[in-house]
Amino acid sequence: MNVTYGGHRVLTVKPGDDLFGIIGIPLDATPGTQKLHISAAQGTLQLAYETGFEIKPKAYPTQHLKIDPRFLKLSPENQQRNERDQPLIAAAKKHWSDTPPETFTLDLPAAGRLSARFGIGRTLNGRESSPHGGLDVAVGTGTPLRAAAAGRVIATDDYFYSGKSVWVDHGQGFITLYIHMSRIDVNAGDSVERGTTLGLSGATGRVTGPHLHWRCC
Ligand SMILES: [Zn+2]
Repeated sequence: MNVTYGGHRVLTVKPGDDLFGIIGIPLDATPGTQKLHISAAQGTLQLAYETGFEIKPKAYPTQHLKIDPRFLKLSPENQQRNERDQPLIAAAKKHWSDTPPETFTLDLPAAGRLSARFGIGRTLNGRESSPHGGLDVAVGTGTPLRAAAAGRVIATDDYFYSGKSVWVDHGQGFITLYIHMSRIDVNAGDSVERGTTLGLSGATGRVTGPHLHWRCC
């Protein structure tokens, strides 16, 4: 059984007779009816059908931030660095492993105040920017960041906007990402348990101060 939404594989679970798809909805998705494409092999036959679901509009508050202007008008070197980063980030987001996640319960990677919630709109130095696609935890530099659940590290890197980052695959495209770190203690390919220290929090990349930006991809 292969389920896709917008060209991306969908995580499916079958706790009983029914099949459930777990889908991350992009913040820029247009509200309305969405299509899921389902295909399955039955003997020598390949069956394909469609089903739908509804996205309802949601309003989020807006947060106004002041950031270092070098993150708004990129120097040629930074432009190059960002151009190097983008395909690597896209590849990590697309990573797929067939083993389903053991759990959907995630632990907060560090204890701290939740300083910015998922979905809030943002202006940077007065200019409209993309909305906040993660959850910020206000922790000082040097706080151990722990894997939210068991998984495998699929990539680590130091990106222009995200700084030092770790991607953990929990199975079937259920991926958590930890960014703005000051130190990375794991390598691509490492298996991690729930609670394994991935590295230390920091203020690398585009930030207004040290914190963890954590997201599911
Ligand atoms: Zn954030």
